[in-house]
Amino acid sequence: MLNKSLKLLILSTPVGALGSGLGGGVELTLYNLVQEMQQRGHKLTVVAPEGSKLDNNPVVEILGNYQITAQTQSLDNPIIMPMNSVLGNMWEYARQNQHEYDLIFNIAYDWLPFYLTPFFEKAIAHFISMGSLMAATDEMMGKIAAKYPGTIGVYTQSQADTFPFAQYCHCLGSGIDLSLYEFSATADTALAWLGRIAPEKGLEDAVAAVEKTGIKLKIMGKVQDEAYWQQIQANYPNAPIEYLGFLSTSEMQKQVRNCQALIMTPRWIEAFGNVAIEALACGVPVISYHRGGPAEIVQDGKTGYLVTPDSVEGLVAAIESIDEIDRYACRQQAESEYSLTAWGDRMEQWFYRILANLD
Ligand code: UDP
Repeated sequence: MLNKSLKLLILSTPVGALGSGLGGGVELTLYNLVQEMQQRGHKLTVVAPEGSKLDNNPVVEILGNYQITAQTQSLDNPIIMPMNSVLGNMWEYARQNQHEYDLIFNIAYDWLPFYLTPFFEKAIAHFISMGSLMAATDEMMGKIAAKYPGTIGVYTQSQADTFPFAQYCHCLGSGIDLSLYEFSATADTALAWLGRIAPEKGLEDAVAAVEKTGIKLKIMGKVQDEAYWQQIQANYPNAPIEYLGFLSTSEMQKQVRNCQALIMTPRWIEAFGNVAIEALACGVPVISYHRGGPAEIVQDGKTGYLVTPDSVEGLVAAIESIDEIDRYACRQQAESEYSLTAWGDRMEQWFYRILANLD
């Protein structure tokens, strides 16, 4: 079994089409997984909502209505399934086609795939992409974690620690194709903010900070919550912000690499924060709240600053000290800790281990 070429069935997120930005960091993680596993000679089929794009990789496109994002739900909410659910339809495809694969990989943060796990004949590797959000989902994830030890992957320990089943989580981190991010030793007088524009990302604090410093903030990412975005603009009419839209990785890194720092202002326990390592790869220091994944990534005082959570003054002080950070050290950290190859090794070993446990 060990080191053989695997046939993997990859089930995407049901909250939007791949390439739309609605899936957040999961889209990049899934893209990286496909690139890296193909390169290693594994065979993959990606199943995703209709309209999904994954470069030149074929996708089995599934019709149906999107799932409500878990971040918009409160802890005690029940599970909601829409009519003609794309999640249900994707898993029906998996049920019918499972025998052609060695392993199923699930990246959907949803109750249903966990619930369905014992009904499948093939093993399922579940990659959980966010911290604890809903009690009903936590409960189902926890049952599967205990029943099938070793099958639950997460990004970071901070993320795992949000769950009652933390001891069953296998931390896999993240990685990026460093060749797609160009290093820049110098920067314009500008800051960057990247990500889905939604309340859990706390964009308003970054805007409040630049209102005080007067340094332009370039905002890039999908507007997921339009009312929230309008409110920020109304509350800070004089802040020096520029919204550039949701950009491709190539266009995004062209903007980011010319910035003095990336500002991360998560209100929630960010599971990882792919944007942090993308900025570091460009030689751009990261200023983040000391919370969740970014706190495990940023080396305070060396590759950025970790600021007291929810402190705009803290962000301002960090921005004022940004010239003390060596941009080469940032790129260096991305190269030594977040290469796609290192991450691919961890993912591949995880898959082999799950299959070995079944033998
Ligand atoms: N992103 C992008 N274009 C943009 C802004 C962001 O492709 O204009 C991507 C970015 O590369 C990252 C993702 O959006 O992969 C955000 O992921 P992150 O892990 O930071 O947060 P999440 O959305 O998963 O909470």
